[in-house]
Amino acid sequence: MPYLRAPEDLGALISNEPSYRVDQLRDWLYSTPVLHAQDMTNLPARIRADLEDRLWPFEVEIEQSADEGTTRKWLFRAPDGAAIESVLMGYPRRATLCISSQAGCALACTFCATGQFGFERHLEPGEIVAQVAYAQAYLRQIGMPGTPDHLTNIVFMGMGEPLANFDRVREALRRMIEVMGISARSITVSTVGMVPGIRRLADEPWPVYLAISLHAADDELRTSLVPINKRYPIAELEAAAWDYFEKKGRRLSIEWTMMDGVNDTLDQADKLAAIAKRLRAHVNLIALNPTPLSSESAPSRLHIRQFAEALEHRGVNVTVRDTRGRDIDAACGQLRVVSGNSRKPM
Ligand code: SAH
Repeated sequence: MPYLRAPEDLGALISNEPSYRVDQLRDWLYSTPVLHAQDMTNLPARIRADLEDRLWPFEVEIEQSADEGTTRKWLFRAPDGAAIESVLMGYPRRATLCISSQAGCALACTFCATGQFGFERHLEPGEIVAQVAYAQAYLRQIGMPGTPDHLTNIVFMGMGEPLANFDRVREALRRMIEVMGISARSITVSTVGMVPGIRRLADEPWPVYLAISLHAADDELRTSLVPINKRYPIAELEAAAWDYFEKKGRRLSIEWTMMDGVNDTLDQADKLAAIAKRLRAHVNLIALNPTPLSSESAPSRLHIRQFAEALEHRGVNVTVRDTRGRDIDAACGQLRVVSGNSRKPM
C-alpha cells in the first residue's frame, strides 16, 4: 500500500516504470494528494487502474458531518480491522485536522472515551500521514464552505498518545514536514505528559508546538484523573516542558478539561496559574464532553467563564475552546470506535 511506504521506496510500487513516474507518483501522494488514483492525471491509465484500490492504507468506513457542515469526522478502517478516526474543523481562515496516532489508547484517563476502551495498536507512520493527505485532498477537491482549501493546522489530539508511539510519530512528522512541505509551526503534538517522549521530541530538529494535557495542578488530583501521573508527576512534567520551551522557543499550551466539582475550584485555579506562569504557557479550557463510562459532567458556561477570569486575574493567557462535533461524538475525548469494539472478523 503506497502510504505505508516511505517516499524513498515508492519505486517498489510501480516497478518496471521509469524513475520519473515514481517522482510523479510521489508528488501525487505527498505534494498534491488526490482522493482517487484516477485523479493522477499525468500517470498512464494502466498505472492509475493498478493503484486505485491500493491508494489509501484504509477504507473510509464512515464520514459524518456536523456544525452546519464545518466539521467532518472520518472513521477509517485498516485492513486488520483497526479503526482510525480524524476530525476536520473548518473556520473562515483556518482548517484544523485532528489526527490519531494510535488505535485506542493505553493510558486510561478516566474522562476520555478513547482511554475507556483500551489500547489496540500503534498506527504506522503511513497511517498517520495518510490522515493528513486524505484531508488535504478532501479540502482541495471537495472543499468545505467558507474554509481554506488546504490544512492550516494539524493537531495530534485524536485517538492515542503520540509520545507513547514516538518512533512512528517521529517518522510521520518527518514526512509531513520534509516531504509534504507542511510547516512545523502548523503542527501541535499533544501529550498527557510522557516525559521521556517530550525530551526526545525536544532533540528533533522541528519546532512543532507542544500541548500538555494537564487537567489538574496537584499530584493527588492529577493521578486520580490521569494515571500516568504516578510515573511522571507534575514537577517532572513541568521540567521537561520548560526544557522543550527553552530549546524550541515555541509557546507551550496547557489543556485543561473542565469537570464540574473536580478541577474547577479556586484552589486549582491558583495552582494552575502558578504552573502556567512559570512555563509562560497559554491555557486552553475545554468543557468536558460526555463519554460512555464516566459520570463526570461539565461545569456551567458561566462557571467556566469565571474560572477563565480567575486565571486572567492571576496573569494567565487563557482561551475557552469551542466544542466541535459533539453530536457526532467527534469532540475532544469522544473518539473511539463506534461499535465499541473495533475488530472486525478478518
Ligand atoms: N493523548 C494526547 C492526545 C489526545 S487527547 C493527550 O492526552 O494530550 C486530546 C485532548 O482532549 C486532551 O487535552 C484530552 O485531555 C482532551 N480530552 C480527553 N477527553 C476529553 C473529554 N471527555 N472532554 C473534553 N476533552 C477531553
